[in-house]
Amino acid sequence: MRQGNKKKLIVFLFFMNKKNNQFNKKQAEELKEIIKFEAERKTFARVFNYETVMAVHSLAKKGYFKELEFVISTGKEAEVFRATDEAGNFRAVKIYKINTSSFSHMIDYIRGDERFAKVQKDKREVVFAWTKKEFNNLEKARKAKVRVPLPIAFTKNVLIMEFIGENGIASRTLRVEKNIDLVEAYFTIINAMANLYKANLVHADLSEYNVLVKGNEYIIIDMGQGVLLTHPKAKDFFERDCKNIANFFSKKGMKKTAEDVYNEVKKLAKAEQK
Ligand code: ADP
Ligand code: MN
Repeated sequence: MRQGNKKKLIVFLFFMNKKNNQFNKKQAEELKEIIKFEAERKTFARVFNYETVMAVHSLAKKGYFKELEFVISTGKEAEVFRATDEAGNFRAVKIYKINTSSFSHMIDYIRGDERFAKVQKDKREVVFAWTKKEFNNLEKARKAKVRVPLPIAFTKNVLIMEFIGENGIASRTLRVEKNIDLVEAYFTIINAMANLYKANLVHADLSEYNVLVKGNEYIIIDMGQGVLLTHPKAKDFFERDCKNIANFFSKKGMKKTAEDVYNEVKKLAKAEQK
């Protein structure tokens, strides 16, 4: 298995080398060094184009991680890997896929955000901007005291962040985790929404799919689509977030309407502003 994959990846790199004529001999040698650690994952050959391989390589060289271990999640737009650094600490590495990412979906969240208004209508650029936006949003959330994965570094379409899990096992989402304190979860999320709002940010894809449960912590993830309140659709996105949260907690028996969530968040955001 290990051996087979290693061979496949070397063949893949050779192919890339030939096709793009981009890797020089030294780079190819260095990449073989990375492959040594990465042999188990066929996924790599699918996800990595030349630029992505080099982005991963440069982040590894800078010491942000040493080994990409395995895929935690495969989505339409990104793959999330568990990685370890030199000291054995876990990291989460999210790699956006350039070819399969939904360009028209992304552009909608990028163009209206004044931080990224200048992004060109080029798929690659948009995916890079999206990665940067997720990193910036995580930082902004962090400053606003919202529990999100600590952003560590990013290059192009590769984002490195704190690994949310216990003993190396990634935490489950609010959607599938059985062991939750509903009231605690609800208030944590409402508070997080209020703090984000106060920090001028709307998550814009908030739901039980994008909250991880780690013990008694409820951690908000997946912030790439988050926009500033000045985005022309910020209000719609915010209302949709309220609706998703109300739906989830109602299904669990809490009887919350989207208006309830909306009003509670607004009230908290106001109260905290004093
Ligand atoms: P997308 O939904 O766009 O594919 P997410 O950021 O929601 O990307 O991540 C997908 C999945 O990867 C999550 O549901 C979670 O299981 C896992 N994941 C994402 N970030 C982390 C992290 N920092 N630590 C642990 N697991 C993570
Ligand atoms: Mn998600």
